[in-house]
Amino acid sequence: MTGWRPDDAASYQSRTTPLVPPVHHAVTYLLDETAYKDIADGGLRETWYSRFSNPTVEAAAEVVRRLEGADAAALTSSGMSAIATSLLTLCRSGDRVVAARQVYGDTRDLLVRDLPRLGITVDLVDATDVDQWRHQLGRAPARLAYAETMSNPTLGLLDVPAVAAAAHAAGARLVVDNTFASPALLRPLEHGADLVIESATKFLNGHSDVIAGAVAGDPETLREIRLRIVTLGGNLDPHAAFLLWRGLQTFDLRVRRQSSTAADLAAWLARRPDVAAVIHPSRADHPQHELAGRLLRDGLRGAMVTFVLDDDERALAVMRSLRVAAEATSLGGVETLVSMPFNSSHASLGADERVRAGIAAGMVRLSVGLEPLDVLCADLAAALDAHPSDHFGKGATP
Ligand SMILES: *Cc1c(COP(=O)(O)O)cnc(C)c1O
Repeated sequence: MTGWRPDDAASYQSRTTPLVPPVHHAVTYLLDETAYKDIADGGLRETWYSRFSNPTVEAAAEVVRRLEGADAAALTSSGMSAIATSLLTLCRSGDRVVAARQVYGDTRDLLVRDLPRLGITVDLVDATDVDQWRHQLGRAPARLAYAETMSNPTLGLLDVPAVAAAAHAAGARLVVDNTFASPALLRPLEHGADLVIESATKFLNGHSDVIAGAVAGDPETLREIRLRIVTLGGNLDPHAAFLLWRGLQTFDLRVRRQSSTAADLAAWLARRPDVAAVIHPSRADHPQHELAGRLLRDGLRGAMVTFVLDDDERALAVMRSLRVAAEATSLGGVETLVSMPFNSSHASLGADERVRAGIAAGMVRLSVGLEPLDVLCADLAAALDAHPSDHFGKGATP
């Protein structure tokens, strides 16, 4: 007889205690007394089948739970799965959601295309305008407020305590997508948010090799969400969970280094006369510089830097001359990525909507990786000098 029998499993388990979580690829677990009791109790059936619960996935979920300062957390097959599963768990037909206008493109499709098909009304507000939140939340009953804590690509911050207070006053809950900030910078649950979602694909994993999502909050809500991960099928694969677990071991170190390089790079860009504008929460001219100081932890201001050149034509030329930064979408990995919102993340918006989302002509987005600062500055300097500005400080160097 070939294969892996119960006796083999027992002797294997007794011989070793691994230092890191083993990758449990098994789809099903031996039905023992604990499992039958679990089934009979009508619980989450954690000892039954791998879609319900998997030890490798739970090991990674536990790390995320601690990072968010939450009482419970779950992982999903993608950030979108975490968002969709959470919204479908918390909302039902007839409900109303007040959501930020500036959200990730696929989240926006979910909010304005898919939720209305299920009888859920969605009203949009400007994320950084607390008065609009108060007005829309107070105007009619609302189940949820939904926003991103740091917006793409203009790095606007959600005033989490103020919006949470407005939501709670209206009997609604605040759900936030914390992907751009990550829990290294911001723990939204500590500022009044009820549920925090991350695309773990980005900073949490950090190596651009896993698609995964996370959601954290109170145990009661997480139990409801886990039941929907089971029925909607958005569970994370154990191998991906192991990669995420490993990435999480360096999460704090990575984001600290990336954020400090990003702040220095933003300062360097701002000194260039041929760069029209630089957006980073570390800058005194960031519209929410003061809020950043109150909300973001440990002096960290994030690894995303947005800057503006004369026009899309020069920006494209500069971007395509970069040799270190790779022209690609996504963010939060160890390698610096560069993209332009107008032809990538915000390509599906009309020109008017793009202006409303704050997308200026010539806007470039950097996700700063772990390369040394001087390497990134040299890369940018060479690209900027190769395509001089017609308007600003022609040919000048700082
Ligand atoms: C990437 C991203 C998502 C979607 O995450 P996936 O893991 O790709 O499904 C959601 N929100 C934000 C802000 C993102 O950047």
